[in-house]
Amino acid sequence: MTFSRNNQIDKLKKNDEYDLLIIGGGIVGAATHTIASNAGLNVLLVDKNDFASGASSRSTKLLHGGIRYLPQLQFSLVKESLNEQKILKKRLGSLYRPLKLLAPIYIDDGFADLPKIFQKNFIAPFAFKVGLLFYDFLGRRKKAEKHKNISKNDTFDLFPKLKKVNLNKSFIFQDAQTDDSKLVLSLLRTAVEINDSTAINYLNVKNISQKNKLYEIDLFCELTGIEYSVSARKIIAASGVHNLPGDYKKMSTKLKMSGGAHLVLKGDPLEINNNGVFLPKTEDDRVMFVLPWNGNTIVGTTDVEKFSGTKDNPHASKEEIDYLIRHVKKYFDIENLEYISSWSGIRALIDDKDNSTKKIMRGHIIEEIDKNFIQIAGGKLTGFRIIAIEALRQLFNKKFELQDIEYEDQIINYQNYYNLSDLEHSIKHYCVATPVDYLLRRTNISWFSEDNGKVAVKEIENHTNFQNINFDSFDYLKKEGLKNI
Ligand SMILES: Cc1cc2nc3c(=O)[nH]c(=O)nc-3n(C[C@H](O)[C@H](O)[C@H](O)COP(=O)(O)OP(=O)(O)OC[C@H]3O[C@@H](n4cnc5c(N)ncnc54)[C@H](O)[C@@H]3O)c2cc1C
Repeated sequence: MTFSRNNQIDKLKKNDEYDLLIIGGGIVGAATHTIASNAGLNVLLVDKNDFASGASSRSTKLLHGGIRYLPQLQFSLVKESLNEQKILKKRLGSLYRPLKLLAPIYIDDGFADLPKIFQKNFIAPFAFKVGLLFYDFLGRRKKAEKHKNISKNDTFDLFPKLKKVNLNKSFIFQDAQTDDSKLVLSLLRTAVEINDSTAINYLNVKNISQKNKLYEIDLFCELTGIEYSVSARKIIAASGVHNLPGDYKKMSTKLKMSGGAHLVLKGDPLEINNNGVFLPKTEDDRVMFVLPWNGNTIVGTTDVEKFSGTKDNPHASKEEIDYLIRHVKKYFDIENLEYISSWSGIRALIDDKDNSTKKIMRGHIIEEIDKNFIQIAGGKLTGFRIIAIEALRQLFNKKFELQDIEYEDQIINYQNYYNLSDLEHSIKHYCVATPVDYLLRRTNISWFSEDNGKVAVKEIENHTNFQNINFDSFDYLKKEGLKNI
């Protein structure tokens, strides 16, 4: 059965008892779903919004080892992430893209993540080099994948727009990039079309209660107002920054939030030429990334406690946009920097009472909420396989494995302009339920087009699939902060 929303609702109507309910269709929920269904479990996954509409479409899109966590001495997290890169490279097909990153260290700037004592001009490059040696060592990297010192001349040949004044030293190291929302959708399609499980977006878990050793779950369709009721033996909540639903709210894991904003620049105005740049220090001691992304460029940072908008629709504020532009101009020779769109994301971090979100561990926790009911919190995109397997092992005595992701090239090859054939394919195979699912998370039309998809919305809304739903696409795109809507 294909992964269309109508098919999924039909399946739900025929089956109201599951081995496992997963709440949340971000990367953690989607991976847990695919791995659990691959092991033969009868799984239902629901998301109250679209799949990947939370942090999992709003990230920097790096499958990284986490070089930044070395100064925090989180060696095991870095080692684990570097090992994951190797596994994901085999499993994700073209959703895993190796990426070279330049780390330029400037005089009087240093590298924000190093302790103050290592920020001095003559120590910072040396300390960074030691970090890179560790990175290669922890990742057991082969020669071709190891970092390289790069001369100033070579740096400016490769990155002609990078500021020349005060460059102290630069290095190139390797990480990888993905397309976060397409990764989530590919995992889910594999689970549904290959493993025959069920995943439904816009289905909100309203309440959970217990009856005869089963959990009874009340579901509410946000698009039609129809209510459903199912039961499940076990529950995994992978609900990101959101509290648990209904009566379980007060038992939710204590979380702290950390936000980050990104800009999309048209084409390659900074002439990074399909390589990334890891900008080592912002004015408030953060790092920033400048990355190629599907023919355009993204610029972004993370680690702020404040965010604008709501948990469901955070958006980049004017202050954050100005901040990003200011920093690009600090490091690149460019006078006018135009951006097409911006986004903001919020991740859940474990609240360890530390005042600064930057210092809180990126590791995840899996907390037992009730018997056979766990909540996953924290973590990062890169660790999704490990987080999912660890969670499943707490509930089931089975062998769990991530299978190869299927069909990923189909969603990758969708055009970033509206066309009926991609729209219909995505309705049938990637569970598009509203126009914005197609514009924001199956394609990049709203992120990449000058009108942010405004004209396309009108055409798409005429499609029969969107006639009887309670959903305001323009209002949604406005809430996302898309400037031309
Ligand atoms: C700005 C930023 C940049 C980042 N960059 C990177 C990076 O480059 N590399 C990296 O590895 N990691 C990165 N991360 C971290 C990564 O994005 C997150 O760790 C990851 O996406 C979290 O996935 P998740 O599935 O836990 O949560 P989410 O993606 O937030 O998913 C949770 C889902 O649960 C649903 N939900 C909540 N309550 C209910 C309910 N009652 N009923 C039904 N559904 C519900 C929500 O609608 C949501 O879709 C970044 C994070 C941010 C914020």
